[in-house]
Amino acid sequence: MGLVIAIDGPAASGKGTLSKRVAAAYGFAHLDTGALYRAVGVSVIRAGGDPADAEAATRAALDLHPEDGILSDPALRTDEAAQAASKVAVVPAVREALLAFQRRFAEMPPGGAPGSVLDGRDIGTVVCPSADAKLFVTASVEVRADRRLKELRERGIPAIPSDVLEDMKARDARDSQRAVAPLRPAADAFVLDTSALNADQAFDAAIAFIGSKTGLGPKA
Ligand code: C5P
Repeated sequence: MGLVIAIDGPAASGKGTLSKRVAAAYGFAHLDTGALYRAVGVSVIRAGGDPADAEAATRAALDLHPEDGILSDPALRTDEAAQAASKVAVVPAVREALLAFQRRFAEMPPGGAPGSVLDGRDIGTVVCPSADAKLFVTASVEVRADRRLKELRERGIPAIPSDVLEDMKARDARDSQRAVAPLRPAADAFVLDTSALNADQAFDAAIAFIGSKTGLGPKA
């Protein structure tokens, strides 16, 4: 088993960008586990179902073949997909169905990579509790809503600031209050608040922490 780096945190905390950079710095494989939940949510909608329907969500999770390219489907990046993801994610059988794929990725990173970076909500607490380094990336809900607004506008998607903030709060509440694998930092996680940090500063802080835990230095 290679080295495992767990990066958790709420929506738009900067953990996705950070995870990709960290993986590239060490030559590790990267898994965005949110995409798995998004794929399940989108599959339910495409089948004409309701993502809040636990049975439909479980069926979609059991039928999911993440290797088939669905994780890079642009439909996963919409706000509708994000909301659907957070609804299917409260279903214990959905989480259970997605667990094996995530653990296999960490144990045997694709492409023979020497390690992996998994980002999500419960990597350090449930999926890989013995990860070599755990980070919990966060920022205030206002800063995160601003970032999401900017990102939507850059993609040419019209958005109303108060709606984006409300959606973010609704998703935070669902992710933090669910009974199974709620969003919370692992006891041994390094909490990185990016509210006042740019991407480079967040990356430097992450690399310093991971280096202190693992002795790893970024690839030249
Ligand atoms: O990270 P992302 O915003 O793509 O995640 C979408 C949703 O999937 C989250 O709001 C959360 O409900 C769910 N999720 C989860 N556990 C993970 C990753 C994502 O419950 N490890």
